[in-house]
Amino acid sequence: MKEAIKTLQSWIDESRSIVFFGGAGVSTESGIPDFRSVDGLYNQQYDYPPEEILSRTFFDRDPEEFYRFYRNKMLCLDAKPNAAHKKLAELEEAGKLKSVVTQNIDGLHQAAGSKRVWELHGSVLRNYCMRCGRSFTAQQILNSAGVPTCSCGGAVKPDVVLYEESLDNRTIQGALNDIENADMLIIGGTSLAVYPAASLVRYYCGNKLVLINKSPTPYDSHADLILAGPIGEILDQIKAR
Ligand code: ZN
Repeated sequence: MKEAIKTLQSWIDESRSIVFFGGAGVSTESGIPDFRSVDGLYNQQYDYPPEEILSRTFFDRDPEEFYRFYRNKMLCLDAKPNAAHKKLAELEEAGKLKSVVTQNIDGLHQAAGSKRVWELHGSVLRNYCMRCGRSFTAQQILNSAGVPTCSCGGAVKPDVVLYEESLDNRTIQGALNDIENADMLIIGGTSLAVYPAASLVRYYCGNKLVLINKSPTPYDSHADLILAGPIGEILDQIKAR
């Protein structure tokens, strides 16, 4: 492990346009549950599986039940950035890291100070009225009861990409462009099982593909360096210089 950290540090030292691609594992150290991990939401008891509740069909059919689940399980507004978020913000500040591409919707990268963040699945911090487009904060959603409604009478929807919904084109293009031009790609806290993670990663054409994950991923054979462990613990040992 010591050798792998050393290699990671030297690659970071010689890179100037690193892209970090992260998933749920980046936020689990901040206490935000991972949908697909063994301890994640899938193993909890609910009337419907989370994947069904978090679909557009379900949202349109039963927004009340959607919001009951969403307020209880998705809005973790007390969560704080962990060592991984902080180190990535430092690396951007130091001019090493170009951007963060994330599958998370918690806004913790920005809370840590990251500026260029491509949120593939949106953010719980943004919410809008489906009728007039007015914005609402996450706190307003948390404080509301039932289905949050705008003064115009429209229902409010989180700016989160639900199952069955397509990703934002501008976000995808921005992420793709950064990955294509990256001199180093660090993938962390994701099993790369979720669309479009794996397909995005294929756009990287350099020779410094680093995988940091607790368990093996389908992409391990493509990696130039693999570090097995919690992402926060590993990045904490890196110096942004
Ligand atoms: Zn409205």
